[in-house]
Amino acid sequence: MTDLEKIVSLCKRRGFIYSSSEIYGGLAGAWDYGPYGLALKQNIKNLWWKRFVDSKDEMYGMDASILMNPRVWQASGHISGFSDPLSDCEDCKKRFRTDALEKRVCPECGGKLGASRQFNMMFETKIGAMEDSSATVYLRPETAQGMFVNFKNIVDSFHPKIPFGIAQIGKAFRNEITPRDFIFRTREFEQMEIEYFVKESEWKDSFEYWRKEMLGWMSDIGLSKKSIHELEVPDDERAHYSKRTIDFEFDYPFGRKELYGLAYRTDFDLSAHSSESTVDLSYYDEETKERFIPNVIEPSFGVDRTVLAVLLSAYTEDELGGAKPDHDNPVARTAKGGSREKRVYLKLKPSLAPVKVAVFPLLKNKPELMEKAREVYAMLKKEIPQIAFDDNGNIGKRYRRQDEIGTPFCVTIDFETLDNDTVTIRYRDDGRQERSKISEISSFITEKLKTN
Ligand code: ATP
Repeated sequence: MTDLEKIVSLCKRRGFIYSSSEIYGGLAGAWDYGPYGLALKQNIKNLWWKRFVDSKDEMYGMDASILMNPRVWQASGHISGFSDPLSDCEDCKKRFRTDALEKRVCPECGGKLGASRQFNMMFETKIGAMEDSSATVYLRPETAQGMFVNFKNIVDSFHPKIPFGIAQIGKAFRNEITPRDFIFRTREFEQMEIEYFVKESEWKDSFEYWRKEMLGWMSDIGLSKKSIHELEVPDDERAHYSKRTIDFEFDYPFGRKELYGLAYRTDFDLSAHSSESTVDLSYYDEETKERFIPNVIEPSFGVDRTVLAVLLSAYTEDELGGAKPDHDNPVARTAKGGSREKRVYLKLKPSLAPVKVAVFPLLKNKPELMEKAREVYAMLKKEIPQIAFDDNGNIGKRYRRQDEIGTPFCVTIDFETLDNDTVTIRYRDDGRQERSKISEISSFITEKLKTN
């Protein structure tokens, strides 16, 4: 299994993820995405949107504000119930989530834990200039409620036939007692969520449909079947609104933990908002002439936990090149001078890779090669914007750099290119190289991106 430290260090070294406000010592539970981390995250979100929103006729995308009327959280039960039990250690004064502890003693110093009390995880802030309680608002702890409170707007504007869904990608904030494990448990994170509205009699079929859709998605992004485990959440551990929940757990290096959740939320949310707001949130079915409050199936995906699972699954160490190294010589020279080197690469699906193709001139000090490489780069960039140009160091070093960020293809411009307009394409996973016509590279790579 991949060591988490190796991922954290690769992410920092190669510009994926940094700790937040690092020059001031960071901030617990907050991380910043650099250029490649952002590109990977955007690729994940775009793929998700394409798969679950754009390719389905009954899905409506939206983007609600993070700050909402506080009565939303009253109705949803978050003000009274969105809390974790916590205890303070009487000796070292550290704070822990009581439900996550195996024994009732401090896991750090073995000291005695104080009484357990409930800690609400919503971040509060004040809105406007007045400092009274009516001006308290919350940073949303989930994107779901933004979709429930817009249910009537979507129905009135689009008259969807049931079943239909509302989907949203956006930030959520939770004042986690113990943020940990890199981007797994943070205080600010992103969710991709769907609220799928169905007739009560159809919830079981719909639940099964979404279970399969979620498994299909996990396979699409390259998570192996054996690293995913479905956990039927028992009655006494489910959230107050749910009658059935499956957690999709992933084998992280720090244990088998929740990646995604699938919940049957019944009509809890629409009913609660109907009674709190006194606005009728029922649905009129033109076909059956019935009026009812729809039931909801909710597939919920954490973006950051996806990024982490994808990176852990893609991280690979192997050896490429000539002879096998002996144990005191990790870079073994063969008779022909070839070498077999240890390397690290990210075996990312091309569709997720932050850079799809890197273009190199064989030698930096040959103007004719530089000019041709720039020309090929400019031509490809029009079709494949996620592209890099690298003329630093020798070709071997450039390959290693691209391997570490998961670039699936590298194109090298050499002297033969100047004669016959062909280049070498080098494949990340096995280091294989092929000669190809410049005019064919773009369609070749675009095709790979569609199917992978
Ligand atoms: P956990 O039990 O791990 O705290 P949860 O059951 O509270 O998670 P949900 O409320 O179901 O999580 O949230 C939906 C999804 O949002 C989760 O499956 C996860 O992918 C993501 N998520 C929740 N909390 C966090 C967090 N603190 N940091 C990063 N992602 C999170």
